[in-house]
Formats: sequence, C-alpha cells, structure tokens
Amino acid sequence: MKIDKKNNRIVVLGGGESGVGAAVLASKQGFEVFLSDKGKIKPRHKQQLEKLNIPWEDQKHTPELILNASEVIKSPGISEKVPIVQEIIKKGIPVIAEIEFASRYTDAKKICITGSNGKTTTTTLIYNMLKKAGLNVGLAGNVGQSFAMQVAENNYDYYVIELSSFQLDGMYSFKADIAILLNISPDHLDRYDYKMESYVKSKFRITQNLSEDEFFIFCSDNDITTEHLKNIVVKAKMLSFSQHKKTEQTAYLIDQLMYINYQNNDFDMSIEELALKGRHNVYNSMAAGITGQVLNIRKDIIRESLTSFEGVEHRLEPVFKVRGVQYINDSKATNVNSAWYALECMTAPVVWIAGGQDKGNDYAELFDLVKEKVKAIICLGKDNTKLHETFAEMVPTMVNASSASQAVNLAYDLAVPGDTVLLSPACASFDIFENYEDRGKQFKEAVKNL
Ligand code: ADP
Repeated sequence: MKIDKKNNRIVVLGGGESGVGAAVLASKQGFEVFLSDKGKIKPRHKQQLEKLNIPWEDQKHTPELILNASEVIKSPGISEKVPIVQEIIKKGIPVIAEIEFASRYTDAKKICITGSNGKTTTTTLIYNMLKKAGLNVGLAGNVGQSFAMQVAENNYDYYVIELSSFQLDGMYSFKADIAILLNISPDHLDRYDYKMESYVKSKFRITQNLSEDEFFIFCSDNDITTEHLKNIVVKAKMLSFSQHKKTEQTAYLIDQLMYINYQNNDFDMSIEELALKGRHNVYNSMAAGITGQVLNIRKDIIRESLTSFEGVEHRLEPVFKVRGVQYINDSKATNVNSAWYALECMTAPVVWIAGGQDKGNDYAELFDLVKEKVKAIICLGKDNTKLHETFAEMVPTMVNASSASQAVNLAYDLAVPGDTVLLSPACASFDIFENYEDRGKQFKEAVKNL
C-alpha cells in the first residue's frame, strides 16, 4: 500500500497488547509511528517496540508528539473522556481502534463475537472448532495475541475475534464476515453515561457495514437485542438461536435436544453431551454450532468440538472438592447477568462469594435464585454496603472478607458436605485485586491451601 507522506504519522495511545500490536503493524506498513502510555509499559512490550525502532513514552502524554498525528489508534481501555483524547478529537484527528486499523491489511475471513457475556468462551469454542477442521485460523481480540500483531506477523485465512463494546466504539469501516451478538444486558454503564441505549448501540456496531453476503447470528431470547432490531436495518443473512422458540430459528431446543438447522442441513445433539454446562453455555454452543454450519464444517467435527471443549479459566471453573464441598471459580462473572447464569446452574446449596467494585448494579434479577439457592453470602469487596442492604433480608448469613484467602476460610467454616462454594462476584475486581484473573488465581490458591 502506498502511503501519503503528508498523512503518515500514526500515534498509538496505550502500550498494552493491542497498542504494541498496532504500532508494530503500522511500522511494518511504512508509517511513522509513536506510542504513548500514561501508565507504565511492560519491559516485554518496550523490547518489541525497540526492536523496530518505534519511539515511545510512558507515564506521560506529550501533546506535541501526539497532536501532530494523522490518525490515532486508541486502546479500548482508555476512555474518550480523558483530556488527551478530548484534545485529539477537538483537533479533528480520527481516533480508531486497533481492530479497525489492522483490518485494512488482511483479506482473511473474520468471525466476530460480541455480547455482554460469553464472548471469550464462544470465541475460544469457535476457534477450537475451526482449528479442528484444519483451517488456518488465528484467535484475536481480547484473547491471546492482538489482531494487529497477527496481521503483521502471520498469514491466516480466518480470524476469530472477540470484540468488546469499547473496541466496537472505535470501528467504522470494519466489516465482519460472520457477526455474532450473544446477548445484551447492562454492563459498563459507567463508560456510557449510565445510558443503556448508548451501550446497546455500541454493541450493534458489530452489524455496521454488513451486506447481503455476510451473516448476523443473534439470540432471539434476548429482548434488548430483538427490540433494537425492530428499529434498524441489518442487511446480512439473519440467523437466530433460541431456547424458547422454534419457528424461524436456526438453532433451537426441544426438550434436551439442541437442533441447528441451516439450509435444511440438520444437526442435532443432546445438551447433556455439551462439554460446557449451564443454560448460558447452551446459547454459546448454539452460536458456535451455527458458525460451524455456515462455514460448512463437518458435523462430526462440530459435535466433537462442542463435546470436548475444556472451558476457559475463571469461567465456572471447578477448582477442588474439599471435605465434600465443591469450590467453583467464576471470577470472570463481573456483572449481574453472568452471576445469574452461575447461580441458575447450581444444584446444591450455595455459599456465594460476591462483591467488589460496583458498576451501578441492579441485583433484582437475582432475588429468586438467591432466595432459592444461597445459604450464605461472603462479601468480598472494599465497600459491601450495597450487598448487605440488598440481601440482608433474604439470606440468613452475611459476612465480610477483605481478601480471597479470608473469604475461602470463611466459606470453609460455613459450608457443609454437599454444598457448593461459588465465587461469582457480579462486580469488577479492581477495588481489591489487580484484575479478575488475579482474583480467580488468589481464590484457587486459597482453596488449594485449605
Ligand atoms: P466475556 O468475554 O463476554 O466476559 P466470558 O466467556 O469470559 O464472557 O464469561 C464471563 C462470565 O459470564 C462467566 O462468569 C461465564 O460463566 C458467564 N457467561 C458465559 N457465557 C454466558 C452467556 N451466554 N450469558 C450469560 N453469562 C455467560
């Protein structure tokens, strides 16, 4: 590609996985590149930049080095509201996401997954299916190596890409070949001025630019999705999945049998056979199964992928059974809806470890499940007031913990053989932990030490 010399300075904001990938790709494409991070850049990432002589700065943003950009690639973690981004926007410099930038330099087919919950699980599930089918495929987005880095260094025919709403916000011309919207429930509202409509619109950006040749796979049981679809036009072939409706669905459930019927090519399997348990994972498996059918993957490979998938760490991950009590790590349940699905699939009395940084949570949808299944709540957050106010009347025992090991020790005392101890916080982790992985790891470590 020929680069216009006057239009050739790319500034990357954020020196994490995606930012460094974008910088490497831009440099390989012949752009003048500068990377700036307000925080500290990891040594590994600095090395990657230095290897290609890409100038960078960390722990500051120098306006003179940033505001002369022809285009800015912003990490999805940086809010539009931060002053330097505001200045960039004011100057009329386009701000895009790494995925948008990288998509300009590949002809690979892109299978893109978004939703409030289930993205990583479904992305990984589909990636494994495509690999099993022998396709030359990369896994990208929020999981693994960044899309840009892989475009710079590999030559894949397919990418399975997990897209968060923050990434979608920086995407304009990008076009998916298969776009999957798993579900929408309130999350990250703090980044959307507490306007649900803005968050919904952001999720629906996955459908932008789709034409009749592409596919849009969505869940028709999700009211927020179906309501929004009434007001917009999606040109793609629409394939929906449901656990409650049968007509006009590509994937549906009858009793315990999951059917995927694409172009009269029937596929069915018992949900008992699915490797991933819980109703939410039936949805994820349906989305993956439809994708397999659309891509013409052999049915035995689709089946094998759905039955042998091992799951992803921190998502309803069974840890150990100690003294007849099962411990489950669902640290990735950082919103109310994901905790709902975790509680929904519990079959034993639950000691529930919940709490953390509240994102404007409304716990009402959990009430029935909590009343039915939860015998004690261990609040694992800096400020547990809201949890106490919400659940005190419903749950006989509520205690506070300020660390994962304290929470696990309290759970050990409260649980009796046959119970389940479930870490499914419904909140972000940043008040006490580095991130949800750190929270999950500390939980597992504490269980090991019991
Ligand atoms: P994401 O990448 O969207 O955050 P994950 O696959 O990492 O999704 O799962 C996050 C949490 O949501 C986990 O607690 C998981 O058990 C739960 N979950 C997974 N799939 C779904 C779904 N389809 N609906 C609701 N919750 C889900």
